[in-house]
Amino acid sequence: MTASGISQAAVETFAARERTRFIERNPTSVALAERARNSLYAGVPMHWMADWSTPCPLFVERAKGARFYDVDGHEYIDFCLGDTGTMFGHSPDPVARAIAEQAGNGLTTMLPGEDAVVCGELLAARFGLPYWQVTATATDSNRYVLRWARAVTGRKTLLVFDGCYHGTVDDVMVRSRDGRTVHRSGLVGQAYDLTQYSRAIPFNDVEALEAALAQGDVCALLCEPAMTNIGMVLPDPGFMQTCRELTRKYGSLLIIDETHTISTDIGGCTRLWNLDPDFFVVGKPIAGGVPCGIFGCSAEMAERMAASRRQAQEDSHGHGHSGMGTTLSANALAMHCMRANLEEVMTQAAYDHMLPLAKRLADGFRRLIAQHDLKWSVTELGARSEFQFCPVSPRTGAEAEAAFHDELQMALHLYLINRGILITPFHNMTLCCPATSEADVDQLIATLDQAITELLAIPG
Ligand code: PMP
Repeated sequence: MTASGISQAAVETFAARERTRFIERNPTSVALAERARNSLYAGVPMHWMADWSTPCPLFVERAKGARFYDVDGHEYIDFCLGDTGTMFGHSPDPVARAIAEQAGNGLTTMLPGEDAVVCGELLAARFGLPYWQVTATATDSNRYVLRWARAVTGRKTLLVFDGCYHGTVDDVMVRSRDGRTVHRSGLVGQAYDLTQYSRAIPFNDVEALEAALAQGDVCALLCEPAMTNIGMVLPDPGFMQTCRELTRKYGSLLIIDETHTISTDIGGCTRLWNLDPDFFVVGKPIAGGVPCGIFGCSAEMAERMAASRRQAQEDSHGHGHSGMGTTLSANALAMHCMRANLEEVMTQAAYDHMLPLAKRLADGFRRLIAQHDLKWSVTELGARSEFQFCPVSPRTGAEAEAAFHDELQMALHLYLINRGILITPFHNMTLCCPATSEADVDQLIATLDQAITELLAIPG
């Protein structure tokens, strides 16, 4: 039996019908996909773009607000929003204006401008941490924070939760299996043993957390305040506070990655739940969709970072390299866009619009599940909600993964795409943005209802 309770044969019949419909409906995408195979590896500019539910990539012509339009002229309501890259809508007007303003005034110089100072002040005021750095992606932020954490603690081991994702940082590509840390499956070109300096434990497991930290070699726990990349997994009440207390007790740092969970509150879960991390990371939406990442640190960290940097410089006689950087980090375009985004887009008013819509959507999912008598559940956090193919919301990454029914998930996503609705690929996450309407939410629920009705009518 499948995790979802839906028969595999029915899913296959349903999916085949939808694949045919997609091909018929999207001749221009099909033609572009064919052409792309001659010049782009795997027919796409980044190989994972070929992993969606569609039989060939859906090519986008333009996007604005909560909508995008494909090259065949179809309109879509977008609940994926670039997997949070455009959490506040596609091309928000203030960010579009900021791009236009900066476009003729220099895009990158390796030097800061006034925007950088304003951004530092805005970030400190919003997130409560005093000092900030700007990178090109959330991946970079996590990589650099990890380097700092190792430097200031003099410890090497990174602790993460099983099923986490923090970008393509090598050190986080581990899982927990039967109490042991192992490599995440599917890694390409992995030359060295990641388990040497990385440890994975189950989320919401206080005992495993304390046992891992008690070994005394953990530089930091890197975590999201709620897991969002293996389906959503919420922390038990008080679990994140325990993470803070135990990391402190054992001399390890707490790094909170809010790249996705920033959808919960204008100050993230960190502010909402008073998490008091040593380092705080956000990427994707922070500059309105223009590549940019940030990390903040406490005053104590800043002092310890300065000391370890001084030491490294002394050791290298001033000719060393910190191992952090990238030339385009904090470039003028990104800084100007981040400023506009923080001042005018990522506002309390935006959250006040998004949060009730996500609740409406979660309620709608629950209604559907009850109506169709499915043994599924809904997990919601701030502006995101997700239906999962298990009767109660999972408590660990492994439980979330056990509820996967990939073929069903992909078939439902494809059905929605064929009817002008996009949700986040690879699991069932939906995000509402300031341009999403109640009618959009209701349309997703009605279309999913239709999909499930059709699916259940197919003999299994
Ligand atoms: N942190 C989290 C929690 C993420 O979900 C992601 C990407 N999904 C990242 C970091 C990395 O972001 P990017 O791919 O933009 O570097």
